[in-house]
Amino acid sequence: MTSTSPTCPLCINPGGDVLWRNNKLRVITINDASHPGFTRVIWQEHVREMTDLSVSERNEFMAVVWLVEQVQRQVLQPDKINLAQFGNMVPHLHWHVIPRWADDSHFPEAIWASAPARAPEIELAWQTHKTQLHALLPRYYKELEAALLQR
Ligand SMILES: [Zn+2]
Repeated sequence: MTSTSPTCPLCINPGGDVLWRNNKLRVITINDASHPGFTRVIWQEHVREMTDLSVSERNEFMAVVWLVEQVQRQVLQPDKINLAQFGNMVPHLHWHVIPRWADDSHFPEAIWASAPARAPEIELAWQTHKTQLHALLPRYYKELEAALLQR
């Protein structure tokens, strides 16, 4: 089985700031000004589909995704968590774990969709809320790292 690809960006680069890693997985924090808390869980080897993994590998992968979700809920208190696994651009397994708020710029659309038009006062309220969320990120990263180390 191929473990790396010389042309794959997720084989060549971490893909963000590495919060935690082991030999199977890494957890990356994404510095996305519009979407605070955006986190990715990436399988270290170059694998295309979840069903290319063994059942125990899949379980290990998803346990880390659930842990990220749990800490996001505890610290950031989102209205919803979005989980996404595409790999269309980069066929190297990775899950996006995205906390969402009812007042965020794209809600209820996916963050990759066009942002719906909004009244200026609603946009302004989100800017204030988003600033508060950014202030929580150091605590989120610290608690997530601690939870991952305890696994
Ligand atoms: Zn790769």
